[in-house]
Amino acid sequence: MYLVGAGPGDPGLMTRRSLELIAAADAILYDRLIPPGALEGARSDAELRYVGKEPGAPALTQEETNELLVELACAGKRVVRLKGGDPFVFGRGGEEAEALAAAGIRFEVVPGVTAGVAAPAYAGIPVTHRDAASAVAFVTGHEDPAKPDTALDWDALARFPGTLVFYMGIRNLPLIADRLVGAGRGPGEPAAGVERGTHPGQRAIVDTLGGIAARAQAEEVRPPAITLVGAVAELRDTIAWLERRPLHGQVVAVTRARAQASGLAGRLRELGAEVVETPTIRIEPRPLEGELREAIDRIGDYALVCLTSPNGVSLLFAGLGAAGRDARALAPATVAAIGPGTAAELARHGVRADVVPERFVAEALVEALEPVAVEGRRVLVARAAEARDVLPDALRARGAEVDDVALYDTVAEPLTEAERAALARADYVTFTSSSTVRFLAESGARPGAGARIVSIGPVTSATAAEHGLTVDVEAERHDIDGLVDALTADSSR
Ligand code: SAH
Repeated sequence: MYLVGAGPGDPGLMTRRSLELIAAADAILYDRLIPPGALEGARSDAELRYVGKEPGAPALTQEETNELLVELACAGKRVVRLKGGDPFVFGRGGEEAEALAAAGIRFEVVPGVTAGVAAPAYAGIPVTHRDAASAVAFVTGHEDPAKPDTALDWDALARFPGTLVFYMGIRNLPLIADRLVGAGRGPGEPAAGVERGTHPGQRAIVDTLGGIAARAQAEEVRPPAITLVGAVAELRDTIAWLERRPLHGQVVAVTRARAQASGLAGRLRELGAEVVETPTIRIEPRPLEGELREAIDRIGDYALVCLTSPNGVSLLFAGLGAAGRDARALAPATVAAIGPGTAAELARHGVRADVVPERFVAEALVEALEPVAVEGRRVLVARAAEARDVLPDALRARGAEVDDVALYDTVAEPLTEAERAALARADYVTFTSSSTVRFLAESGARPGAGARIVSIGPVTSATAAEHGLTVDVEAERHDIDGLVDALTADSSR
């Protein structure tokens, strides 16, 4: 049994241990405030069970949850109890651990990044600071401060020499502020509220203790939110960093295949974009038979091997591996890669590409291959089915005996309703190949009217034009970095 914190919302703030345990769990009992995608790494046969509380509609009482935990653990299951933030900070993890201990069940506690520290941090507010706060208190704002039996000592809180961080306090904020001021905390002291901290839609407000409740109401700050009182709130002016990232506030759709999306999505997120993955294509490897099987069996006969995508490289090596061979099979050949991504994938398999053109289109590869002697020699072009004929044609024209072999097919990936909706609200829609454009058009989904269309290069742009999409931004360098640069430059127009 594992009591695990999932952090405040940004999936990147999940701990390594939490991811390990999620991947191994037989059953996962989770709450509402876990990060989006937190369960993606779970086994497909794992039992996933929501046990959170919805306001107004209780799913399970705490006692029922405790009993369920004990029951599953007794059944010998590997159970992860996954909670937002840290399990022991206003997460009732303490009560669940007591129930487990009482039942004699062994358990492990995995702390998480707590919202009371993380949400302020993402808003540019350090909860302690040598000049501004030597202590920090985590306080529940859930209690009705008007209740006579409130557990909170408002006089002590008002006197507390440091930052006060309130969890669950946004609805009670007017009362909290009144109580603190009534007990002697200065109404002019800085205060802040951070809604959906570390999520793409994070919002933060800064005001005075006296003014924060009205401000939160005016700006309609909603749970989950952290409220914070203390001089450190003022530091947001200087330290705010999230909003200053170049793509902050931009929703960017990535249409390339899910398996290939992570590099581009990661770069965009790092720059502050909210990335929505709307894959329109999927890579389907060809079975290792027919001309592909032959090409792999006689790979040593080729004077030149051309690879035109990272997918192609990994599938070629998968084929070699299945035939009991490895990188050494390519030793006699000159190896050409269409661009740095393909070259990097080759390098991962221990092969340094001999030829990589400056521009990453087939025409440039043709040019770069001019010094390579191909006349009367065997050449392998291993790539996607239905690729353009530019490269094999040019090599044949130079007298080469070209085997143009398909390693994979690019097939349509149907878009879900949620993905269509995400696509429609994107500020930017990125296309990294002609096939992403074509399959999007065929799916009938359309970018929103105001969306800017970003293309990786002229070939993709031409396909977009054929399908009635006007390209607003075309990468100068026809690779992922070039596309990200062009998009970033466009957003700061
Ligand atoms: N165990 C959690 C807290 C659970 S109590 C933790 O350690 O973070 C739930 C409260 O946490 C919410 O009412 C809100 O005050 C706060 N909270 C959780 N996630 C938040 C987020 N992403 N941004 C701001 N506050 C959050």
